[in-house]
Amino acid sequence: ETHTLIIGASHAGAQAAVSLRQSGYSGRITLLGEEKVPPYHRPPLSKDYLSGERDEDDILLRPADSYATAHIELRLGVRAGAIDRDEKTVQTTDGDHIAYDHLVLATGARVRHLPIPGTELPHVFYLRDSTHVDAIRAAVSPGRRAVIIGGGYIGLETAASLRKRGMDVTLLEAQPRILQRVTSPTMSDFYRRVHTEEGVEIVEDCLAASIAQNGAQLTVNTSCERSYEAHMVVIGIGVIPNMELAEFAGLEIADGIAVNDYCQTSDPDIYAIGDVSWHHNPLYDRHMRLESVPNATEQAKIVAAHIMGQPKPYDALPWFWSDQFDLKLQIAGLSDGYDDLVLRGDPDGSRSFAAYYFKGDRLLAVDAVNAPRDFMIARMALSKGRTLDKTILADCDDAALKTALR
Ligand code: FAD
Repeated sequence: ETHTLIIGASHAGAQAAVSLRQSGYSGRITLLGEEKVPPYHRPPLSKDYLSGERDEDDILLRPADSYATAHIELRLGVRAGAIDRDEKTVQTTDGDHIAYDHLVLATGARVRHLPIPGTELPHVFYLRDSTHVDAIRAAVSPGRRAVIIGGGYIGLETAASLRKRGMDVTLLEAQPRILQRVTSPTMSDFYRRVHTEEGVEIVEDCLAASIAQNGAQLTVNTSCERSYEAHMVVIGIGVIPNMELAEFAGLEIADGIAVNDYCQTSDPDIYAIGDVSWHHNPLYDRHMRLESVPNATEQAKIVAAHIMGQPKPYDALPWFWSDQFDLKLQIAGLSDGYDDLVLRGDPDGSRSFAAYYFKGDRLLAVDAVNAPRDFMIARMALSKGRTLDKTILADCDDAALKTALR
C-alpha cells in the first residue's frame, strides 16, 4: 500500500487529502498538523470570528469526523521536525518516524515578529491561528482602546472587527500609506476614508518603537510625535513562509519552497503547496508566492491529480477578498507594474466602485468594492487572457459591461 503523508493541516493540506481520496486514491493518507484543532477556515479569524459572529464549529473546513469517514488519518498537535529523503521518512518532534511514498509540504506561513521591546507583554497579540484569536477575543473590552500595528488587509480587518465589538481603535502604519505594499493609492485613500468615517483613527508614516506596561494599560511609543494608550495591541505586519523543513532537507528554496508547474519540489516525490510554495504563474509569466485560499485549494488539486497520474499544470488566476465593515472587496489578478488605472464608480463619495489596472491595453487586475459584476467580468477576461476596452469601461452602466470585453 502506498502512503501519502501531508504536513500541515490547513487549507492546502486538508484539500490535498480530500482531493486525493475523491479522485480514487486507494493508499494510506496521513494529514499531520501542529495545531490541535481540526482544519478550519483562516480568513474569518480577522473577520466574523473575531467580531464574535461565528464560533469554532462554524469555521471548520469540514466536519471533524469526515476525515475518518474518508479514511484520512488526521494527526493533530504533532510537528514534523525533519525529512530524511534517502530513507523517505519524516521524523516528528514526538519521536515517531513516518515512512512515505509521496510527501506534501503544506506548512504555510507564520507571523513576522516586530523587533521592538514589549511585544511579549500580556495583551499584545499576533494574529494567525485560532488560538491567537481566542486570546484576543477574551481580551476584547468595549469602550477601551485597541492599537493595531500594521495597515495591511489583516490589520484593517482587525480594526473593523474590534470596532464592531465597540472598542476604540487606532491603527499605526509605518509606510506613508496603508495598503502600500499591496495596492494603489486610490485604494489606500478609499480605505482611509471609510475607516475614519467608522471611527477608526488611522495614523500613517508612524513607526511603533516600543510597548510598555503602564499600570493596567499599555503604552505604544512611536516615531511620530505622540504615544498611544491601549488596553490591547494587535500586530499584523506580514508573514514568513515555513520552509525550514525543505531547506534542511536540501530542497531548492527561494521566497518559499521552489516548485514546478505540478507543485513538485526539486525532489520529485515531494510537493509543496499553498502559502509556502514558490511557483511560476503562466498568466503573469513570473515566479511568486501567494497568500490566498484559492491558491492553496487549487495547488492541492494539482498535486492530487499528479499523484493519480493525471497531471494538469498549474495556470490559475490569483484572486483574493477582504471584508471590512459593509465593504466586500474582491480582487482578481495582480496589479503590480500597472501604468494606468481606470475607475468605474466613485471611490471618494460612495462605497461601491471598481479600480481596473492596465499595462498599456492589457488588463492586469481589478479591485472591486461592493461591485461583484466588475469582479466577475474581469476575472473571466483575465483567466482567458482577454482584456477590456478602457474607453467603454470608464462610463458604461452595469448592463453594458460585457461589451467592453476584447
Ligand atoms: P496555513 O493556513 O498557514 O497552514 C499551515 C499549517 O501547517 C498550520 O496549521 C501550521 O501549524 C502547520 N505546520 C507548519 N509547519 C508544520 C510542521 N513542521 N509540522 C506540522 N505542522 C506544521 N486568504 C484569502 O484568500 N482571503 C482572505 O480574506 C484571507 N484572510 C486572511 C485573514 C487572516 C487573519 C489570515 C491569517 C490569513 C488570511 N488569508 C486570506 C490567507 C489564507 O488564510 C492563507 O492563504 C491560507 O491559510 C494558506 O493555507 P496553507 O494551508 O497554505 O497554510
